Amino acid sequence: MSSAEIEYFSRRDRQKSSRTDFDSEKGRLNYYLHKIALHDTGTCDSCRQAETMEHYLINCSQNEIATAVKDICDQRKISFTLPTILRQVAVLEELRHLTHRQL
Ligand SMILES: [Zn+2]
Repeated sequence: MSSAEIEYFSRRDRQKSSRTDFDSEKGRLNYYLHKIALHDTGTCDSCRQAETMEHYLINCSQNEIATAVKDICDQRKISFTLPTILRQVAVLEELRHLTHRQL
């Protein structure tokens, strides 16, 4: 992990009580970009359902991310739910290796 990433995560942890950068209602996925007119449809490129954070990380059967997240949760004995995933820095770190997309 680079020093910039370490700084990012430690800053995010400090802010955790008030808000998180991985807010499930303010992500950078298509569904949220669509809301602010930065994406035409707001749907998943793989399966055409609304690309919410929950869809991308948990429900999409077409991308490899949801499967990988499930594996991470199983390994770490974390429940496979969005609030849990977004609270686990270790899971988010793994995600950063899996996808170059900003969530
Ligand atoms: Zn999908």
